[in-house]
Amino acid sequence: MSKRQLAMVMDLNKCIGCQTCTVACKTQWTNRNGREYMYWNNVETYPGSGYPKNWMELGGGFDAAGDLQEGVIPNLEADYGVPWDYNYESLANGEVMTPDTDPTWGPNWDEDEGAGAFPQDNYFFYIPRICNHCTNPGCLSACPRDAIFKRDQDGVVLVDLDRCQGYRYCIAGCPYKKIYFNPKISKSEKCILCFPRVEQGLPPACAQQCVGRIRFVGFLDDQESQVHKLVHKYKVALPLREDYGTQPNIYYIPPTEAPPKFDAEGRIIEGSNRIPVEELEKLFGPEVHRVIKTIKGEIEKRKETGKSEILDLLIAYQHSEMFRLDNNYYQEIAKGNVGQAVHPVDERYVKGAHTKAISHFSVGGGHH
Ligand code: SF4
Ligand code: SF4
Repeated sequence: MSKRQLAMVMDLNKCIGCQTCTVACKTQWTNRNGREYMYWNNVETYPGSGYPKNWMELGGGFDAAGDLQEGVIPNLEADYGVPWDYNYESLANGEVMTPDTDPTWGPNWDEDEGAGAFPQDNYFFYIPRICNHCTNPGCLSACPRDAIFKRDQDGVVLVDLDRCQGYRYCIAGCPYKKIYFNPKISKSEKCILCFPRVEQGLPPACAQQCVGRIRFVGFLDDQESQVHKLVHKYKVALPLREDYGTQPNIYYIPPTEAPPKFDAEGRIIEGSNRIPVEELEKLFGPEVHRVIKTIKGEIEKRKETGKSEILDLLIAYQHSEMFRLDNNYYQEIAKGNVGQAVHPVDERYVKGAHTKAISHFSVGGGHH
């Protein structure tokens, strides 16, 4: 466990699926040099297969006893999709726009498909995903080279590229499939939570650029931070798939508001909600019922009294109301030369009965 933990809260009620965050990240970190297919930040439509395809079914993470679970490494063509381009230059000659390969999958491939029957009860919502900078990272536990570490000063999880030999156990071990293999340099790479920005007091690019202002960033132990208030004080932000056992540090306000359903005659079914709560429970666990009740209660309170600190927080009128970072904190660390990368003793990993026998990972092939 790190001394302090940076965290992000994303309010799914406000995400419009515009992918500005994705582009902000891509242009900053991953637009060349073997990273073309990587999306350290992606935004997927739920329900849907996501990116990489069916990532929720590819294993990794820990069981209840703390044992690392078997995982699969997604296949570049079938599960990520090989990046393609279009024949822009030939368009002036009257050619029809066509991709330069025959893609079968890609990021956001199933955008806005969702589930249910149109027009009665079809629904979907967006989930932006980055590495969760987990407190108990499956990637770190799976790495036989000790190439993955969690920074003591802020809990950011990084790959030491000098140590990484490209074995890819980390990809199998991460249940969120948020590590990517760079075939050009034969190393694994991942979201770095924009630590060079954070150290200057700036939020990660995805959060800074977010059009919907859905992202809050700060230290979990800073009682004045928005993330502390949303996660610990008001307890309305929940981690994604906590059941994977990695203790994620990216939290979500679940979607609480959706349009009502229609009956067979096209009439509104009063009090209905298109998003089945069971689906939200799958993502955010049983606590989601309490969170939905709390937020709905706050909306009512606001209507009656005009007051609600939770809603004021979530509306986030100014950037200063969304990010609380501390450039001085990092400067002090740099001065004292403390807070170097520390390889944590991972208690859950150590206590697992079979954690030494991780050779059962299936590292070959892909998942179809
Ligand atoms: S989300 Fe995956 S890559 Fe990120 S820290 Fe957790 S286990 Fe590692
Ligand atoms: S920029 Fe913000 S609103 Fe747009 S997709 Fe990303 S998280 Fe959602």
